[in-house]
Amino acid sequence: MNLILMGLPGAGKGTQAERIIAKYNIPHISTGDMFRAAIKEGTALGLQAKSFMDKGELVPDEVTIGIVRERLSKSDCEKGFLLDGFPRTVAQASALEDITGSLNKKIDYVVNIQVDPSLLLKRLTGRRICKDCGATYHLIFNPPATEGVCDKCGGELYQRSDDNEATVATRLEVNIKQSEPLLHFYEELGYLRSIDGEQEMDAVFADIDALIGGLA
Ligand SMILES: [Zn+2]
Repeated sequence: MNLILMGLPGAGKGTQAERIIAKYNIPHISTGDMFRAAIKEGTALGLQAKSFMDKGELVPDEVTIGIVRERLSKSDCEKGFLLDGFPRTVAQASALEDITGSLNKKIDYVVNIQVDPSLLLKRLTGRRICKDCGATYHLIFNPPATEGVCDKCGGELYQRSDDNEATVATRLEVNIKQSEPLLHFYEELGYLRSIDGEQEMDAVFADIDALIGGLA
């Protein structure tokens, strides 16, 4: 069960990743975790990655790809893995094809959790925080009993500046532009499977489960 999980911010990727790895007992491999582990283990590639990160620079593809290769070679990936946050570009995806090929593995599915960007905008801008006690609410998922008022302490609710519509819309656009060529690449390879991410979380997982269950 070799999977890549894709989805725009707010699509529910984190929740679904947790449920997939819990049910199928495969490692969840995110770029950040991979870097942290390689740095902690002090591998040559980990140290290279660290030197770029310490300077606040992007880790170059050759280093990232080397770290992915090392990670996918580990024994816990024998039964499968769930890649999340990698690849981000067609160049990385193409390198990943070489890696999996050389390890006698093959990506089974690229699971893309699809949600209309206008709905993502609502999800991502819905967070409200209490000025007094810091309690968090969400206009869709966890609304306060009275609009704008904290249930716990009666304090005033506000929106963080990085949750505002313009900021979030820009972030979404960047992500859409970045993911489009990647989705196309995987569609051409026949790996891409789209899941309706506008349903309840349980229903989203049920669809993913129906798709990947046959691989187990
Ligand atoms: Zn409060």
